[in-house]
Amino acid sequence: MSAPTLNPPADRPGLWGWDRVRLEAWFVARGEPAYRARQVLSWLHRRGVGDVDAMTDLGRAGRAGLAASFDTRRLLPDGVFRSADGTEKALFRLSGGAAVETVLIPEEGRTTLCVSSQAGCPIDCAFCATAAQGFQRNLEAHEIVAQVRWAIDRVGREGLTNVVFMGMGEPLANYRAVASVCRLLLDPVAYGLSRRRITVSTSGLVPQMRRLADELDVALAVSLHAAHDALRERLVPLNRVHPLAEILAACRYYLARRPDRHVLVEYTLLDGVNDGTDEARALVRLLRGLAVKVNLIPFNPFPGSAFRRPADARVAAFQDVLTRAGVFTRLRRTRGDDIAAACGQLAGEVRDRRKHAPGAEIPCSSHRAA
Ligand code: SAH
Repeated sequence: MSAPTLNPPADRPGLWGWDRVRLEAWFVARGEPAYRARQVLSWLHRRGVGDVDAMTDLGRAGRAGLAASFDTRRLLPDGVFRSADGTEKALFRLSGGAAVETVLIPEEGRTTLCVSSQAGCPIDCAFCATAAQGFQRNLEAHEIVAQVRWAIDRVGREGLTNVVFMGMGEPLANYRAVASVCRLLLDPVAYGLSRRRITVSTSGLVPQMRRLADELDVALAVSLHAAHDALRERLVPLNRVHPLAEILAACRYYLARRPDRHVLVEYTLLDGVNDGTDEARALVRLLRGLAVKVNLIPFNPFPGSAFRRPADARVAAFQDVLTRAGVFTRLRRTRGDDIAAACGQLAGEVRDRRKHAPGAEIPCSSHRAA
């Protein structure tokens, strides 16, 4: 199936990615009332209507201006894969040929969408499949919103409860687009998701962590994976630029700005590398005094990966050290690994993937003017 990809000309931004502040400024600059922005957001994000001609309450000038200035097409997935556990993964082919994946994870009482913010990733963590494909480009805000729209098509507006920026890419390296999407997710006129249900995850881009704390009321997740700089440098090369002390200081800054929150610490357990009880104790010491919850993610293998997943007993022993020290710790259950949709398995390639899910690909139309 070769669906044409959305390829907006550079001078026509994608309307689906514009948040209220930007749209209001745009209308005001044209001599139109600021409330037009709310009308547009409601058509797009509440009603799912992207056809400007159908936005009857905008007035003729408003409609003509929008149509001339924006690309209103909506990107649709090229393929959808279903896991035996109910997890679904959609593949979006972007202009320029890159592809990204999005994962929809139904759980008891909630459904979480894991969105991608970049095609590939520049951070190059040693144990991540996305890193192995290098970095192609940042996603535009509308390309991230397209992932949200797909999830709403699947489970409805009420059905989608959580959005996590834990797919492909480093969200804080694409700050502007990610911030726009967060604003749309939070805006009651657009998606109106609870501030507790939007999580931005970072490998430790310290300046942007501080900026996020200042500007956006969303949950922060930090991928630590090690409690010592020497080990973390091997796993997350960015640690040479922003070592642990700086990252922890940025966490404290975030918590000072958001006193009712905690920081979610992600820790991928790699057999024989960072999963010993000594490392667990070092992690306890590192996190002492911070409002954190720890998510342990046993390594998810991918073709060509050099690491192994630890045995269950090692995982349990690591978790035990944290729990006994009073650190709230959850073990993240692997979801969707039969369709390569688990943490760290997203590589945005259709090739080789069909064999994981025979017959699971749902034909879908190309992008349409929604
Ligand atoms: N770049 C951001 C967003 C990715 S979130 C970040 O690093 O936080 C995905 C989480 O899964 C990160 O904590 C990442 O380090 C982790 N991860 C990557 N590859 C993995 C793998 N193969 N197995 C388990 N977890 C992995």
